[in-house]
Amino acid sequence: MNDRNVGIADPHSFVPSRKVDRLDVFREKYAAERDKRLTKEGAEQFQAIDFTGKFSEFDADPHVDGPREAGPMSLDLDVLVVGAGFMGITAGIELEKVGVSSYKILDVAGDFGGTWYWNRYPGVRCDVESYIYLPYLEETGYVPTERYVRGSEIYAYCRSLAQQHGLYDHALFQTRVTGMEWDEDTARWTVRTDNGDEFRARFVATQSGLFMRPHLPGIPGIESFAGHSFHTSRWDYEYTGGDDSGNLDRLRGKKVAIIGTGATGLQVIPQLAEYADEVVVYQRTPTQVMPRQNAQTDVDWFKSLKPGWHRERRAAFDKCVQDRATVSDVDDGWVKFAKYQMDAVFEAGGENPSLEVLIDAMERSDYEWNEMLRDRIDASWRTSRRPTSSRPTTARCASVRASATSTCLVQQGLGRHRRHGEHADRADHRDRDRVGRSGARLRPDRLRDRIPGRTLVDGQGGL
Ligand SMILES: Cc1cc2nc3c(=O)[nH]c(=O)nc-3n(C[C@H](O)[C@H](O)[C@H](O)COP(=O)(O)OP(=O)(O)OC[C@H]3O[C@@H](n4cnc5c(N)ncnc54)[C@H](O)[C@@H]3O)c2cc1C
Repeated sequence: MNDRNVGIADPHSFVPSRKVDRLDVFREKYAAERDKRLTKEGAEQFQAIDFTGKFSEFDADPHVDGPREAGPMSLDLDVLVVGAGFMGITAGIELEKVGVSSYKILDVAGDFGGTWYWNRYPGVRCDVESYIYLPYLEETGYVPTERYVRGSEIYAYCRSLAQQHGLYDHALFQTRVTGMEWDEDTARWTVRTDNGDEFRARFVATQSGLFMRPHLPGIPGIESFAGHSFHTSRWDYEYTGGDDSGNLDRLRGKKVAIIGTGATGLQVIPQLAEYADEVVVYQRTPTQVMPRQNAQTDVDWFKSLKPGWHRERRAAFDKCVQDRATVSDVDDGWVKFAKYQMDAVFEAGGENPSLEVLIDAMERSDYEWNEMLRDRIDASWRTSRRPTSSRPTTARCASVRASATSTCLVQQGLGRHRRHGEHADRADHRDRDRVGRSGARLRPDRLRDRIPGRTLVDGQGGL
């Protein structure tokens, strides 16, 4: 199995051609860039969304009509699963397989899907190949249509998994867990929700995700911004028109600003640029971007895979990306980079390099790889049609293929928002009246903070 099986024309063409001689030059350059971006506020620079406060609409679910219909419940259960994303679905399927029937799966969302329920922005796709990313492919016989499928296909797959395994009978949506306590006497968790439910469960599985809540940049004035604005994980198609494949026809004639150029920003920006009259991209820190090398699935190849292939392919990929093993059939960007680094380490120090040699070779190869990416972005920017920005960035790479009247990149962070649909920064871009924002709040380490909404988790012995 190799990339030729999934339609990649020349999988080996993407290799750095330049060697880095002076590590100190790169270190200085990176340190200078880091210093530009450090703020004394640290993580406090972001604006947490308060469910009931002035930013609550950024967290509202655009996919449901009204509140949950079912009244408050009081139930004794064997297992309570919090979260109906892939982890919650997997938990449900595995419970079914071992014959546990006394369980519920709770989610704030209106359906199964988790990440793929919430993130329906234009351009959304997986960035790990679907043959690895989607679970239970052998059991279901499902053939993903492409190597990197659209979010809508993943969302549909989540729902079909839930359907096939009878999980809808156990689901309770539009329900936020607000607290859970361990009762030493009854040896049960008591779990409460924002709908007034009370569940008593022997086991609780918190599958509430990593990117559990959207967050906003803490820009002074953001609360009084009067243009239409929303978060990418709550995309407003009523406003933009279209769907996750594009066609954002209601953006014609409009000026749009987007804050953030992470993985989501990169997927969204070309779509905005295709339809809006003007797009301003606010980029504080460029992200790494590689060719996607997407392709339609070769169905004959897919059907020729031998039993056990799915587990093997996933394990080989994980080993390569996480343990830096050098053998994998996948050969995508993740694997190519891991291989490049491992080859560099081997070349410098053989099978058993010293720690010093290992660190040096990994750092050097990392710079070489990223130089190659920067060169590529520069080259594609030079051939673009209407750039109005001046320095190489990853966001350009995303936007150059699009045909917006003007795509402008603002390299600094936002200074402050102005009222009436204007925003301001050091370059003073006025009159943009629509702002999209991307970014999510990562899950904190402490169990008690994993349930958002000021929930307290009180476990055994008060832990
Ligand atoms: C846009 C995007 C693209 C991604 N692409 C990839 C990719 O290509 N490859 C990859 O490996 N990973 C990707 N990820 C990471 C992705 O989140 C995981 O792959 C995976 O989907 C996580 O599944 P999960 O079930 O753990 O969590 P989630 O899918 O986040 O589901 C958690 C669920 O818990 C619910 N929840 C949270 N708190 C509560 C509460 N208090 N009460 C009730 N319900 C609650 C949430 O509403 C949510 O539905 C992507 C993430 C994003 C945001």
